[in-house]
Amino acid sequence: MRRTKIVATIGPATATPNALRRLLEAGVDVVRLNAAHSDMKTHSNNARLVRELASELGRSVGILVDMPGPKIRSGLVVNDEVELESGQEFVLSGREDSIGDAQHVSTTLPDLAQWARPGDEVYLADGAIVLRVLESIGKDVRTEVLRGGPLRSRKGMHLPRAEAHVEPFTARDALALEMAIAAKVDFLGLSFVRRAEDVDRVRAMLPKRGMRPALVPKIETAAAIDNLAGIIEAADAVMVARGDLGIQMPARRVPLLQKEIIRACNMAGKPVITATQMLESMTRSPLPTRAEVNDVANAVLDGTDALMLSEETAVGLFPCETVRMMSEVAESAEGSPREHGHPEAITAAITDRVAWAVAHAAVQAAEDLNVAAILCPTRSGLTAHRVAAFRPKMPIAGISTSPQVLGGLCLVWGVQPLLVPDNSEADQLRQAIAAARAARLVRDGDLVAVVFGSTGPRAGSTDSVRIVRV
Ligand code: ATP
Ligand code: MG
Repeated sequence: MRRTKIVATIGPATATPNALRRLLEAGVDVVRLNAAHSDMKTHSNNARLVRELASELGRSVGILVDMPGPKIRSGLVVNDEVELESGQEFVLSGREDSIGDAQHVSTTLPDLAQWARPGDEVYLADGAIVLRVLESIGKDVRTEVLRGGPLRSRKGMHLPRAEAHVEPFTARDALALEMAIAAKVDFLGLSFVRRAEDVDRVRAMLPKRGMRPALVPKIETAAAIDNLAGIIEAADAVMVARGDLGIQMPARRVPLLQKEIIRACNMAGKPVITATQMLESMTRSPLPTRAEVNDVANAVLDGTDALMLSEETAVGLFPCETVRMMSEVAESAEGSPREHGHPEAITAAITDRVAWAVAHAAVQAAEDLNVAAILCPTRSGLTAHRVAAFRPKMPIAGISTSPQVLGGLCLVWGVQPLLVPDNSEADQLRQAIAAARAARLVRDGDLVAVVFGSTGPRAGSTDSVRIVRV
């Protein structure tokens, strides 16, 4: 059974009921809807479709809406792709509504002409295309193509000097947030976060009552690396967004930063996703490169909770094959002996030390006794989060009456979400065991550890471990 979770971006290649069903069956745990692309109506329809398919398949699937944030992008182009040739002239247009072609494209920065200076280099297509600014004429910027290539609609664009002038929360972010809250999604990805306040700002906009989406800042700017500890503290989970990180600073720094970010998240007990180009060549090829297989395996060895697919499943020719490949490579890497848990998690500056200590004790006992599974009946999901932070070798079940709590657990390493009926009369312990038995996690005669928060007076939200023979 694979412990590492898989996040897959859906797009034109996968956003139909049949394609999506096959993608979920291939092993996707969390579906990512990138609000920088497509329109909000399509995203909310897709969110509904994911929920319907998940309940048809009898499992939990999380939904992550990625918020566009202050990422500068070029605009729409005809037929969704045009080719820029080295040496030609190309205009960055100040007209936001114009549809681009091989001669010009709009950008999300209407006052770009104000910031561009002759001689500046501008990067299009996530850095693949390089332009040199010749001059600004009115609202347009005339450039020369230094390195050509294909340009798709709404691709990431870089003009380092302009980045400071972008609003941290754009009009499109407001639309995306409204859509995500109405669709009750589980996670919000936050693009181009620079500091902890960028996370706090969005948190302040979430509804005050009921389930709120978990906030997942994407670490992709140089500033975010400088403010890493604060951002992790403000976050519910974190994404190592290697694409933009490798443009904002030399790409050679990314491998070590990935290890550093994953380790910091492991210590803080917060889920971490490793993203971008993991099996990129499978966008067009049925087989990955050896280097990609190594990359996926190494992220698992680094301790990532989840692995993410972007182009591969959004516009790729082999989306299901890619998910299956990722799943097999991850599972195989998990066979490597890993250091047992991270006891530092309970000594760090965390709240609810009792709960962390009890989770630690539960994992210790579970491993001493080699129990079949660790069952976590949980109201908020936090008990399962904490147990998972110690990376026990046996399955962890996150057991809840709330589909939304289970959605949040879809991202957490090693946790299998299990839905139980809402029945206040039910004995929590028996109900948890019955659910684990139904999911074939335990059989008669097995020992299990059950970790939970007891009712009545208690010092921590998780305060009890029971070892039970089924
Ligand atoms: P980010 O920086 O957030 O990763 P991105 O532009 O790289 O943004 P991805 O989510 O990584 O976008 O997806 C990869 C590519 O797949 C996009 O650039 C786009 O061409 C395509 N794509 C993704 N989602 C959609 C969608 N909903 N509709 C159309 N195309 C999409
Ligand atoms: Mg991307």
